[in-house]
Formats: sequence, structure tokens, C-alpha cells
Amino acid sequence: MEDIREVEKLVATDRCDVCGAQAYIRVQMDSGELLFCAHHGNANKTKLQPLVINWHDQSEELNKK
Ligand SMILES: [Zn+2]
Repeated sequence: MEDIREVEKLVATDRCDVCGAQAYIRVQMDSGELLFCAHHGNANKTKLQPLVINWHDQSEELNKK
């Protein structure tokens, strides 16, 4: 049996590390974790890709309302 951990869901109080807007993207890396809004997530995706362990994008889910 494997212990599969769900990625922690982003909530309304999670903020983009760059601009402080609501975070929609959680990026997990060896060195830690970053939160981004949809804009900065996309802007940094290419640059961060080699370091990323898990790219958790919740933007679609949060846009549904
Ligand atoms: Zn941002």
C-alpha cells in the first residue's frame, strides 16, 4: 500500500509570491514551494520546468463559479 498524498488545495488566502494576487498555481520543487497567480505561473513555467517536481494548476477549477 502506498501513501499517496494529495496536493494541498489552494485557498482564497493563498497569494502569488510575485504580485500578491490570489494564487492559482502551486509549484513544488526540491528547494521548496512557490505560489503563483495564473499570470505569473504561465510567465515562469518555462523557466522553472527543469526544477519542478509537481505543477499543480487550479486555475480552471477556481474560474468555475
Ligand atoms: Zn502574480
